[in-house]
Amino acid sequence: MSIVRLEHLTKTFGGRTAAVDDVSLSIDDGEFLVLVGPSGCGKSTILRMIAGLEEVTSGDVLIDGEPVTAWPPKQRDIAMVFQNYALYPHMTVQENMAFALKLRHVPAPQLTTQVADTAHLLGLSELLDRKPKALSGGQRQRVAMGRALVRKPRVFLLDEPLSNLDAKLRVSMRAELARLHQRYRITTVYVTHDQVEAMTLGDRIAVLDQGRLQQVGSPEELYLAPANRFVAGFMGSPSMNFATVRLRGGERVTAALDGLELEIPDAARRYPGLAEHLGSAVVLGLRPAALSLAGPGDPAVIEVVPLGVEALGDEKHVLFEAPRDGSRDEQRQTGVVPVAVEDTSGTRLWTAKVTQQADLAIGRPVRLAIDVSKAYFFDATSGQAIA
Ligand code: ATP
Repeated sequence: MSIVRLEHLTKTFGGRTAAVDDVSLSIDDGEFLVLVGPSGCGKSTILRMIAGLEEVTSGDVLIDGEPVTAWPPKQRDIAMVFQNYALYPHMTVQENMAFALKLRHVPAPQLTTQVADTAHLLGLSELLDRKPKALSGGQRQRVAMGRALVRKPRVFLLDEPLSNLDAKLRVSMRAELARLHQRYRITTVYVTHDQVEAMTLGDRIAVLDQGRLQQVGSPEELYLAPANRFVAGFMGSPSMNFATVRLRGGERVTAALDGLELEIPDAARRYPGLAEHLGSAVVLGLRPAALSLAGPGDPAVIEVVPLGVEALGDEKHVLFEAPRDGSRDEQRQTGVVPVAVEDTSGTRLWTAKVTQQADLAIGRPVRLAIDVSKAYFFDATSGQAIA
């Protein structure tokens, strides 16, 4: 059993705003939890506090119910793999992998067997006599993993372990990591800023922003039911599109967007929370796949001018300026043309994911249909999801 529990974990560096702010989270025995978030959100600091490499400002780290916050790293029986692998350059692969076992005075025959087994599992058997400088990036990565796994730690921590590998190798190492986890079932916390890695590897994902936990859940939960605008914008590629819309209605609820009154089907049942926002502005979220090339009978169509077209083989991504808030009638009456809202990364572009056959050119207007049944709504002030 190795359950890791973080209780109100907080870290402040020199009196500035907290790098990690009151994070409480439980990682189950054998679970693969991914900590994800943008650069500087506090992921590595959390990992280092679990490992005992960083002092905790307040809060606790518990392993199997026992507070280990004051314990030195080596007493915690945790193995960590770093982004730069941190292999000992003067030691061979065999020596690198055996090092932690030697420190624990594991008898030589057992040590040799354990290293050989792990090396075999990781496809390193032929490389045991090499030094790190004679290995490729992927092989070094494997040695770092092997070195951490060989001693069967209670908890396995990985800090962006794949970020130094090329794209193809990253995909195959991702599969390898998943396979290793299936086999060993060691409680694992994995840090990445890559939401694809998070979605494919995590049993659960914890999303962080500015030191605060935003949501914890399965990849599907985070994708299908994001708790707030930040999570909605972070999970999914390309990112969700956002626009401010004015809601109207009673029986039928509509959202005014770029001259359209989009009817929200079955709004009372699907989004009961919208009732409180009628007459005011909310943030509409649409994933790029909720926009498609418009056909003749489509009810909700916007005309856009592509600013970029990215052909990706199976599909195309069209980038265009975000539609504006409110209806065109209102714009005419008031003379005020609102500006397009920014997404969480500060851009004012929307993306549509269309089929590879779509005939598109930069600058040539194109009509896109909006599938309103796939809409998300967020409170315009708090950013919390409205459901
Ligand atoms: P990245 O993905 O870029 O590695 P991260 O999410 O892992 O980022 P952390 O490395 O945990 O982020 O850093 C969180 C915040 O704490 C950042 O603002 C960072 O500048 C700050 N920070 C981290 N270590 C220290 C330190 N030793 N002294 C001062 N500030 C620090």
